[in-house]
Amino acid sequence: MHELTVRCTIDNCHYWGQGNVCDAREILITSDQVGGRYPQHIDTQQLSTILEEVGETPASRCEETCCKTFKAKR
Ligand code: SF4
Repeated sequence: MHELTVRCTIDNCHYWGQGNVCDAREILITSDQVGGRYPQHIDTQQLSTILEEVGETPASRCEETCCKTFKAKR
């Protein structure tokens, strides 16, 4: 698998790092619909549950996608 740097501007996220780099080990990008349907704690570990219940979630535009791993900084 290739290395990927995720750049992000959501600086109030727990995983946000200096230089606008996401410090999470992995993140879950999904549709806004899934983001709204499942509570905050549902993340990459529960991907199989999402796939069983919803399936893949194709999008037509970037506006239809979200970062499900977002967690507000405390
Ligand atoms: S988890 Fe998502 S929202 Fe948070 S810093 Fe990473 S890419 Fe941005």
